[in-house]
Amino acid sequence: MSFSQLVKEEISKIIPETRHCALAELSAVFTSSGFFYPVEGHPHIGIRTENVLVAKTGFSLIKKLFGTAARVSVTERKQSRRGHVYTIILQDAASSEQMIRALKLESAVSRMDLSVRSADRKLLQSDCCRKAFLRGVFLSSGSLSDPEKIYHLELVSETEEFAEEIREIMSGFGLNAKTVERKGRIVVYLKEGNQIVDFLGLIQASVSLLNFENTRVMKDVRNNVNRSVNCETANLGKTVSAAVRELHDIGKIDQLIGLDQLPGALREVAYARLKHPDISLKELGEMLDPPLGKSGISHRMRKIHEIAEGRKL
Ligand SMILES: [Zn+2]
Repeated sequence: MSFSQLVKEEISKIIPETRHCALAELSAVFTSSGFFYPVEGHPHIGIRTENVLVAKTGFSLIKKLFGTAARVSVTERKQSRRGHVYTIILQDAASSEQMIRALKLESAVSRMDLSVRSADRKLLQSDCCRKAFLRGVFLSSGSLSDPEKIYHLELVSETEEFAEEIREIMSGFGLNAKTVERKGRIVVYLKEGNQIVDFLGLIQASVSLLNFENTRVMKDVRNNVNRSVNCETANLGKTVSAAVRELHDIGKIDQLIGLDQLPGALREVAYARLKHPDISLKELGEMLDPPLGKSGISHRMRKIHEIAEGRKL
């Protein structure tokens, strides 16, 4: 299963407890995959998607919010592409109208504006709701590349308004998302590992977050070891061989118990070494806050070595 699919599996199991957050998430799903259609002059509302998880979540949110069971139909996708299209519709006019009001879609409906251009900001006033909204956006239109290969998370939007709304909400959480146009759609994306981690935290994908972090730390360790091994300058030789051993210890601890299990003082040193694989121990000590003298940092590094050897924690 792809990394994206794992994240979606995880977040599709989350149904917000509060009405406001459930509405915010549904508005994201609806803006990505919703549609209107008139029946005898009354507007009806529905969701159409090729992703079964979006269909499931849409169905559960509608049931929670409006107490009504929507009708789900499944059709084979046309042409040669394999898969299904899931269509959820609210059958009776009353619950359709209720949902239209709750999602604040009255004006779009009165224009029979088939593409909803963005979600209503009134639904996105609290942080909790903005997080639920981002979860709905990722579920409906997001993807995340395998962190072994590349750090790339993207959310695809049909309209510039929606893309801008997504970007703004992400920016409110300190995420520096960029946008690019691709085949007539707007892609909002993140490229930095730590920002992707933050995003996964916001949408409560905690298992995926840990998997992503583990891959990232191991990749850093490997890169740093390689970089150190490749650095063969003679006068750096001694520093480097010590650093290689230290990185080896740190990588081993990460595999055995995870770096986050280390006591704070040792964890700080471990992360500093990962970040700066090619400086001397003394310089490393000076980089800490507060700085540590040569003997202080040697002592901590010795403890790390002992833990890596499985002697004690
Ligand atoms: Zn909320």
